[in-house]
Amino acid sequence: MTDPRPLLEVTDLVKHYPVRSGVLRRTVGKVHSVDGVSFSIGVGETLGMVGESGCGKSTVARSVLRLVEPTSGSIRLNGEDITHLGKATLRPHRRSMQIIFQDPFASLNPRMTAGDIVGEPLTVHGLASGEKKRERVAELFQQVGLRADQMKNYPHQFSGGQRQRICIARALSLGPSLIVCDEPVSALDVSIQAQVINLLIDLQRKYDFSYLFIAHDLAVVAHISHRVAVMYLGRIVEIADKAKLFADPRHPYTQALLASVPIADPKAKRLVPLIDGDVPSPINPPSGCAFHTRCRYVMDRCKVERPELADVGDRHQVACFLNDGTGRTQIP
Ligand code: SF4
Repeated sequence: MTDPRPLLEVTDLVKHYPVRSGVLRRTVGKVHSVDGVSFSIGVGETLGMVGESGCGKSTVARSVLRLVEPTSGSIRLNGEDITHLGKATLRPHRRSMQIIFQDPFASLNPRMTAGDIVGEPLTVHGLASGEKKRERVAELFQQVGLRADQMKNYPHQFSGGQRQRICIARALSLGPSLIVCDEPVSALDVSIQAQVINLLIDLQRKYDFSYLFIAHDLAVVAHISHRVAVMYLGRIVEIADKAKLFADPRHPYTQALLASVPIADPKAKRLVPLIDGDVPSPINPPSGCAFHTRCRYVMDRCKVERPELADVGDRHQVACFLNDGTGRTQIP
C-alpha cells in the first residue's frame, strides 16, 4: 500500500532546447522536448512513464533531478520548491534523489573497483570513511545480491545484470527517498530483466522509497508501477492507476501502445491496429493535438485545438477530445 503524501510534485514542466544554425550560431528554432508536464509521486509509490523514444521522458527524469535546468515550471520535493536552488542549497536534496541509468557499463568508472564505486557517494557527502565505510559497502553489496568479496573486482569482471546491481547499490548508499530509473533494464537480457525488476520491488518494500520508472516497454512498466503516465511528444496524454490504464485505456495512443505489446498466441485477435509512422519532429510539433497525424479517430478540431488532461474519474486523466468529461469515450 502506497502513502498518498506527495513526495515529488512536478507542475507545468517545460524544457526547450535552442536549435542554432549558421556561422553566428543564431537561434533558429527550439526543440520542444518537454511541453507542460504535471504529475506527482507519493511516498513509497512507483510512477511508470512510457512512450516512444524522443517523447521527452528522459528529459523529464533529468529535469526532476536538476541535471538539466527546466525552461519553466516547478519541482517540489517533500513540499520544498527545488526548481531554482543553487548548487550549495541543492546539495542536501541531491542525497534524497538518485538515478539509475540504462547502460550500467557506461555509468561505471572502469578504473575503480566496484567497492570504491559504491562507497564514493559516502566519501563525497562525508558520511563514512575507513572501516565504517567498508562495512556499509559490504552491507549494500549483500542487499543487492552481490558478495562482499566482489568489492575488489572491476566493472568488466561483472555480468550486465551484476553491473546494474552495482549501480543500484550506489543509488542506495545515501538512503534516498526518490530513485529515478531511466530505462534501467533495457540493455539487459530478458531473463535478467525480471531479476533486476524484482530486486527493485523488494528494495522498495523494505525501504519505502519512491521510483520514477522510465521505460519504452509497457510490459516492464506494468510489472513494477503503481500508476502509469503515457507521454507523447513532450506531453502526458494519459495517466492512471496501472490496473485501470491496462484494463481501460482511453487515449488512442495508449490503446495503440498496448496493442503493440507482443501476444504469445499467434491466433489471438488484436482489438486496435498497430500505430503507423514515426513520432513527428519535436522541433516542429503538429498543431492542435500532437497525435493527430497518427490518430485513426482524428477530427477537424484535433488539428487546431490542443486537448488538455481531463479527469475521467478515479484519478484517471486523459488528453483527448473523444472523452466527454463524464468518463465516456465517444468513438466516431
Ligand atoms: Fe485523436 Fe483527436 Fe483524441 Fe488527438 S484529440 S487523440 S487526434 S481523437
